[in-house]
Amino acid sequence: MSFTTMLIITLCLFMAGNIFGIIYSYLVLSTTVFEKYRIQKKPYKKGVFKDRFPLYIFNVFLLTISSTIGIYFLYDSVESNFPAWWVLIVQVLIIFLADDVWFYFFHRWMHTNKTVLKKVHSIHHRAHTPFPLDYLYVHPFEWTFGIIGAVVAILAMINFWDLSIYSFWGFVFLRNLHEIHIHSDLKLPLLKNIPLISPVEDHDVHHEKLDGNYASTFRIWDWIMKTRFKEKNVAE
Ligand SMILES: [Zn+2]
Ligand SMILES: [Zn+2]
Repeated sequence: MSFTTMLIITLCLFMAGNIFGIIYSYLVLSTTVFEKYRIQKKPYKKGVFKDRFPLYIFNVFLLTISSTIGIYFLYDSVESNFPAWWVLIVQVLIIFLADDVWFYFFHRWMHTNKTVLKKVHSIHHRAHTPFPLDYLYVHPFEWTFGIIGAVVAILAMINFWDLSIYSFWGFVFLRNLHEIHIHSDLKLPLLKNIPLISPVEDHDVHHEKLDGNYASTFRIWDWIMKTRFKEKNVAE
């Protein structure tokens, strides 16, 4: 596979996810298609999508630049053949687990450090009632540093195990869909109980209350550290 093909497929995957996010957000904000599945019920502020659009675009731009640089440096080190299915699944899972542990502690730190909360993370929390594309509504610092866990896992796998580009694509595509999902504010019948995966309510309540449920993909770290929102309140 040539460098150009690898880069184009990577960027197309990101774009496909974001275009899906835009269409999904439009349906949530401007139609009543999903109305009965909404968790918070509060009406969205008029013009909210337009107001947030410049930051969405800026973060997509950062993502495009960083993926181009990433693919440039990793091109010779990644395996471009399709791997055995078990290899694909295990590699995707390892990247998810590393990403999750980093995201949990980084996110929690952004809440405990009041300066960072005020100057950086509060931007994402302007979305008290989130909608799908709000996963992109984050300060560029948070957006850039948020990927460190996945980057470390990718670099480790390149050195200790042949990382397949398909595992990387599998991770970015599923992670993108999951981020869109947990910001949707929707409790959809088929997606409300995916085994082991953190449900929409967890992150939704985090946006509404600005507290607890710091994990993104799994619930593991909120369980271990006892920061699940409900448990926290019971304990207090
Ligand atoms: Zn937060
Ligand atoms: Zn969020």
